[in-house]
Amino acid sequence: MSKYWSKVTKSLLPYVPGEQPKDKKYIKLNTNESPYPPSPRVLEAIKNEANEDLRLYPNPECNELRTVIAKYYNLQEEEVFVGNGSDELLAFSFQTFFDPGRTILFPDITYSFYPVYCQLFGIDYNTVTLDDDFNVPIDKFFMENGGVVISNPNAPTAKYMPLKDIKAIVDFNKNSVVIVDEAYIDFGGESAIKLIKDYPNLLVIQTLSKSRSLAGLRIALALGNKELIKGLNMVKNSFNSYTVDRLALTGAIEAFRDEEYFHETRQKIIFTRERTTESLKKIGFTVTDSKANFVFISHPRIKADIIFRRLREKGILVRYFEKHRIDNFLRVSIGTDNEMEAFIGALNEILSENGL
Ligand code: PMP
Repeated sequence: MSKYWSKVTKSLLPYVPGEQPKDKKYIKLNTNESPYPPSPRVLEAIKNEANEDLRLYPNPECNELRTVIAKYYNLQEEEVFVGNGSDELLAFSFQTFFDPGRTILFPDITYSFYPVYCQLFGIDYNTVTLDDDFNVPIDKFFMENGGVVISNPNAPTAKYMPLKDIKAIVDFNKNSVVIVDEAYIDFGGESAIKLIKDYPNLLVIQTLSKSRSLAGLRIALALGNKELIKGLNMVKNSFNSYTVDRLALTGAIEAFRDEEYFHETRQKIIFTRERTTESLKKIGFTVTDSKANFVFISHPRIKADIIFRRLREKGILVRYFEKHRIDNFLRVSIGTDNEMEAFIGALNEILSENGL
């Protein structure tokens, strides 16, 4: 800690992203990236855009991309905001819609970046305890609050809340903004976007990092009532007018245009997820119902941290959170069929090493 740091900086406990080690080639099932490359049309568009125009700033309003997204989701351009990954959009949203002194609510087990933003912006929060099966008790959100944040499907539990439950929460909380983080919605859930027309307090955030294989491009979208989007622009333009670069804008536009590739890859991931779930259950694992591109698993006889370490030694990375209630679980991203076969093979070896 340096004496030159601000008080806030001294108090921070930053989010720790999943490791990206370079020491050897791993099967990477730890950061919920897509195992499939981006659409060839996206790569071609980015290559063509890598030209002398890079000396010029990108369009700060991201108009063309916003028009494409608006058309795709049957919204107006003024209801669409884009940014440098959903982490950035979440940060802007917390600052735009939540006030210090008005306590916001989110589940006790959810994306661990939410409390980090609260700390950074001085926002108070209370957590809602998920039940023993990691379901969200929606009535706990029916109380006075300064805002609500729900990840649906939730991370790292992978569990999905039906749209009627989201609707009930948004409907009850008309005096505060409800953010629905839909990073994983394309893997089998129903998006809350269709509620935007009826609820001026709903903000839906999606990303191109998972279902569109573009985690490296850093692009995400926030969708909501025009007034919410106007607020996000106020904060963005008080921070950095050019959050989305030229290559990212071009790549994202093409990603939305190539619907066929999008449907093909997400279907493959859903199919592999179901196969993997079956195999895991057969060898004794508990697997939560997943509507995401990852599964959340535990074994009744071997501790998760032991499995985590042994998998790493075998060249397979998964995510382990040393955190109350979930410290006997592993979050495992869905890879290709071959990668998941290798993963199940490694688990079988670990089970037999432990006499099981
Ligand atoms: N929300 C959730 C629930 C996530 O799991 C992630 C991925 N770590 C993000 C947001 C951030 O994704 P990105 O910044 O790549 O859009």
